[in-house]
Amino acid sequence: MMKKLLIAVIVLIAAFGASAQFRTRNVILVTLDGARHQEIFAGLDRELYPKIYRNGTDRETFRKFDAPDAKQRRAKLMPFFWETLVRSRGSIAGNLARASKVETTNNLLFSYPGYSEIVTGRARDDVIRSNDRVQNKFPSFLQFLQRKMNLDRNGVAVFGSWNVFNEIVTTDPNAFVVNAGYENSESSDPQIRSFNELQNEAPTPWDSVRHDFYTFSFAMDHLRTHHPRVLYIALGETDDWAHDKNYDRMIDALHRTDSYLKKLFDFIDSDPQYRDKTTVIITADHGRGSTENDWNSHGEEVPEARNIWMAFVSPDWKQRGEWSKSTIYQNQVAATLTKVLGYDYSEQDNEAGKPIGLLFKR
Ligand SMILES: [Zn+2]
Repeated sequence: MMKKLLIAVIVLIAAFGASAQFRTRNVILVTLDGARHQEIFAGLDRELYPKIYRNGTDRETFRKFDAPDAKQRRAKLMPFFWETLVRSRGSIAGNLARASKVETTNNLLFSYPGYSEIVTGRARDDVIRSNDRVQNKFPSFLQFLQRKMNLDRNGVAVFGSWNVFNEIVTTDPNAFVVNAGYENSESSDPQIRSFNELQNEAPTPWDSVRHDFYTFSFAMDHLRTHHPRVLYIALGETDDWAHDKNYDRMIDALHRTDSYLKKLFDFIDSDPQYRDKTTVIITADHGRGSTENDWNSHGEEVPEARNIWMAFVSPDWKQRGEWSKSTIYQNQVAATLTKVLGYDYSEQDNEAGKPIGLLFKR
């Protein structure tokens, strides 16, 4: 009798597989292009600011976001991120002041190599050496999950402000929804459809990157309408304003991004498919320099751009605030997001970065 019961239990465990050990049923990845750890952890950079803007302390942005200490400044800049996400729901790695490091393993320190490392789980500095619109030769975790979870074209979706996401995130351009650059939304919602025209009528200064507002609005519309199990939202303005040496606009973009995160989590919490069943990772493709000469820049000539940051919110991971004394890598995102759904990414790429160990410690 006992033997039969034991066998039944074993069969049950086998049938539900690894996924039964976690509550996560959906994953969402959010990236903020080139968002520096300096602003994420310490808010407006009050050392740098007066070097960028003469008489900077009189400026509106400085008066709005300055405060005596780093914790106050970052809470002013990204109130939802710090007060709700990190303090009460998740954790964040990458604060160098606490000896917590998050590093890229690619040595190129610009966007395509960084995003490819995130979505494929491995740096390919020998092959991926430019931001050109070339279809990725290496399959992503998005493709792996689509196959494993049997998801249709809408079940996996990527919304990006930069048009090159069409090529970065998949070897097969027709496998799932990718909406990036000044691409129209396929939505049937009249307001969202009106944004198709608006995004072109109110363009950014850059040919290949639209305003994050449209990217985020299209992503939220897809989330409400199609309920994807796997969603990637790739925001871009933080990088482009920095390249243009427009620190104020970069700060504004971070502040707006914080309000987008609040909207995203308000939706997650309101919807039965997502509430208490969704794991979210928020990170960046690369960092930037720290001085008045290179804060705007990144790439091989700015080695500090290797330092990024990574935030985690999941019903399966402990709330642990700010990490300290540890090093994790950009190439671990793919295996981490697949593991929390119950799958083993090494089946697709044995040499990809492994899941982030600390997250899975009870
Ligand atoms: Zn850049």
